[in-house]
Amino acid sequence: MSQSPTELPFREIPFEEHGIARKQISHGALKVTDALQKAGFKAYVVGGGPRDLLLKAKPKDFDVGTDATPEQVRKVLPRVRLIGRRFRLAHVRFGREIIEIATFRGMGEGEVEGDRTIGGAGRVLRDNVFGSEAEDAIRRDFTINALMYDPATQTLRDYTDGYSDLKQGQLRLIGDPETRYREDPVRMLRALRFKTKLGLTLDAASEAPIRELSSLLANIPPARLLDEWIKIFLGGCAWPAYQQMVDYQLWQPLFPGLIEQPEQPPELIEQALKNTDQRVAEGKPVTPGFLFAALFWPAVQRYLVEKQSNKPPVDQLAAAGEYVFVCYTKQVSIHRRYSSMAKEIWMLQPRFERRRGKRALRLMGDKRFRAAYDFLLLRGLEEPDLAESIAWWTRVQEVDEAERREMIFGKPRQEGPTRRKRGRRRKSVKTDSELTDTKSADQAIKTGS
Ligand code: ATP
Ligand code: MG
Repeated sequence: MSQSPTELPFREIPFEEHGIARKQISHGALKVTDALQKAGFKAYVVGGGPRDLLLKAKPKDFDVGTDATPEQVRKVLPRVRLIGRRFRLAHVRFGREIIEIATFRGMGEGEVEGDRTIGGAGRVLRDNVFGSEAEDAIRRDFTINALMYDPATQTLRDYTDGYSDLKQGQLRLIGDPETRYREDPVRMLRALRFKTKLGLTLDAASEAPIRELSSLLANIPPARLLDEWIKIFLGGCAWPAYQQMVDYQLWQPLFPGLIEQPEQPPELIEQALKNTDQRVAEGKPVTPGFLFAALFWPAVQRYLVEKQSNKPPVDQLAAAGEYVFVCYTKQVSIHRRYSSMAKEIWMLQPRFERRRGKRALRLMGDKRFRAAYDFLLLRGLEEPDLAESIAWWTRVQEVDEAERREMIFGKPRQEGPTRRKRGRRRKSVKTDSELTDTKSADQAIKTGS
């Protein structure tokens, strides 16, 4: 067994070489590192912060690593909140910013506090052993994620050659790749995320074991897989990430059987992923619920074909939705608010068939109308019959109020562009109730409700 690497050589990279200035670090992170250092502790900005700054990207947040224990952190910064039962992290808020402060962690050899458990297949179930600065660097996943930035001296401390990897666009696991993936199979997904998101090359040794080990993802808690899935798919690279996941066989263990030919997903799915990336690029909001609506839609269609029934389409969709979410979310748990949104989007689809009258107006006022309309557009890629309906629903949103009313309620004695449906009353004179409906419809148009 190797000796505990409490002390390891590291490279100290000066500001002149790396160019990250103290002022690029957030106010909160500087407050924390300054206070801890003043009290005699080590404190660095670690992880994604320095990495993203070196890549000229905007860091999501700044994390701080320190040799102070959580209790010591609390003495220095009384406002912190200690979270986590076993490995305790300190959170401290500065306005809208939350800084996470983590005590250096180690690999569990030598004299340590806390404990660490290795599960089956070498998986680390708990990772809560305090360690030295060097140990904290090498227990991290990728070399580019192990850089420590000292804002006081504006130097980078590099234990893993992460700096030169980053400059060469290399994504490399620290240590023996197979061991590291077995310890935590989610690192395979993280590899793929950083590769696609940061445009890096996955080093050959880190890439080699992935296909063989991909099935280990089946043992990861479903809630953790959802978190990682969301980071991948809402991070702006959903489509390339999907393709790579399939290629590395990382998609299949997450959603076995959901997409029949994952290498050639239905166009609706491809476009949904591309649209998500487009929205992220434009800074528009994105939600997993919409993506799940697209990803599970082909399974819903299969269900509907298999279980033909005479029930109304909305009821059939509800049943299909229940079924597919139970059936295909065994590995990745999908939060109820996302599956509910997907179901709502599906169940609004039959309502696009009715374009006239108050029903159309009510549909436009539904809180899911916009998402359901976007979904209708996606369906149009594979269902050419929807073209006319799509054109109508697109236009009705573009025209002014008067024309919209005319499209929805028609002019007396005048046929609109839509075909007459079976059983519709042919009346040119409005009944009282229709007049009332028109009035409330006008209101709905005005208020957009
Ligand atoms: P981003 O926040 O932009 O997604 P990040 O690198 O900050 O990227 P986090 O999940 O916030 O990712 O983790 C912070 C740091 O913790 C990482 O940079 C890495 O050093 C370490 N880390 C996170 N997950 C793991 C893991 N599974 N194994 C080893 N180290 C990890
Ligand atoms: Mg982070």
